[in-house]
Amino acid sequence: MLRLFTIALLVCLYAEGADSLVWHPKARTFDLNFRERPLNEFLGYIKSETGWEVKVEPGLSQLVDGKFRGKPAADAIRLMLGGTQFKLVPRIQGGTRLTVYSGNIKAATQEVQSVVQDAAAFEETLIEGELQITLPVKIHYFKSKYASINADPNATDLRPLFAGMNEIWEVANLRFLLNQPELIRADDASAEREYANLFKPGVPKAYVRQHQSRILHKVLPDMPDRGKAFHIVLIYTMPDAFGAVYLPAKGVILMPQVKFAKLIDPNGVWKDGSPVFYAQSNILAHEMGHALSLNHVVTQGNLMIDGRFREGLGIGPGVDLSLEQVEKARNQAKTKGPYVPGVNPKPDAGE
Ligand SMILES: [Zn+2]
Repeated sequence: MLRLFTIALLVCLYAEGADSLVWHPKARTFDLNFRERPLNEFLGYIKSETGWEVKVEPGLSQLVDGKFRGKPAADAIRLMLGGTQFKLVPRIQGGTRLTVYSGNIKAATQEVQSVVQDAAAFEETLIEGELQITLPVKIHYFKSKYASINADPNATDLRPLFAGMNEIWEVANLRFLLNQPELIRADDASAEREYANLFKPGVPKAYVRQHQSRILHKVLPDMPDRGKAFHIVLIYTMPDAFGAVYLPAKGVILMPQVKFAKLIDPNGVWKDGSPVFYAQSNILAHEMGHALSLNHVVTQGNLMIDGRFREGLGIGPGVDLSLEQVEKARNQAKTKGPYVPGVNPKPDAGE
C-alpha cells in the first residue's frame, strides 16, 4: 500500500515537473517538456544542452509549449516553433547552427544566451513504467598558480559531454546532471609543486608513471561528502595523460582539461557530431562505470574494456553494458554515491 502511494506520488511529481530539455546527441533527438515559455528561454535551453550556436531574430516574443520524447531535432523544433521559421545546419567543425526568424534569415542577428537548468537532487522517477535514477554530479575546477594544474571553467563545456554519457547510460535508466562548477584548491602546497615539476624537461617517463598517482592523491583534497556524492575534478593537464580516471580512494573522476581544449573551437563550442566527441563521452561514461562499482571486462564492444586491451589485444571498445553490469551499477546508484572502499562499499560485493 505504501509502495503504491509512493509510485503515485512520483508520477505526480513528474507530471508537474519543471520545464526540461534532454538532448540525445547520437540519436539527434530531444525529450521536451515546456509550458508556455518565452521563445528565447527555450532556445537558451537548446544552446546550453547541445552546445550549438543559436541565433534569433530580435523581437520574436512568442510562447512555446509542448511535451514529447525521442523526437528528431528538426521535427521537435518545428513542433515547438509553430509558424516561425528556422534553419538547422549540422556542422562537423565548430558545432551545429540553429537560426530562428520570422521571414528573412538575415534578421536573425541576436546570439541566444544559455539557460542553465536547475541542478537536480538525487531522484527516482517513474517514466513509462521504468524507475529512472537521477544522479547529481558536482564539478570542480582546480585553481592553482601552476599552469599545469590551473583549469579555466570557461574553456570547457561539459554539457554536451554529459549528453553523450547520458545516452550511453540510458540503458540502465541512469541519468547524470551537472551542478554549477566550483573552484577547488590543492590540499598540499609541496605536492602541488612536485606535480608541476613532473612537467620539467628531462623528467623520465618511468618516473612520471611511478609517481603521478601518488602525487595526484596528495594534490586532490578529500571531499567532505566523499562516497556520498559524485564528483568530477578538472585539472589543466597531466604529464602522462589519459582521457579521465576514477580514483576510488577519493571518490572522484579526474579529467585533464587539455584533452578537451583540443576538441572545442575558439568560441568554446563543442564539435558535436565528430567521432572524437563520442570517444570522449565514452571515456567519461567508462569512468562513471568504475564510480558505479563496475570492473573491467574483456568483451568486444563493451563500455568497460580496459584501455590496455584496446591497444594490445585487438578487442574493440564500445558502449554496450550487460544486464549484470546494469544491475550492479543501479544498485550502486541507489546508494546515492560512488564506490569508495571503506566509505561506500560495493553493495553487490557483500563488503
Ligand atoms: Zn577503466
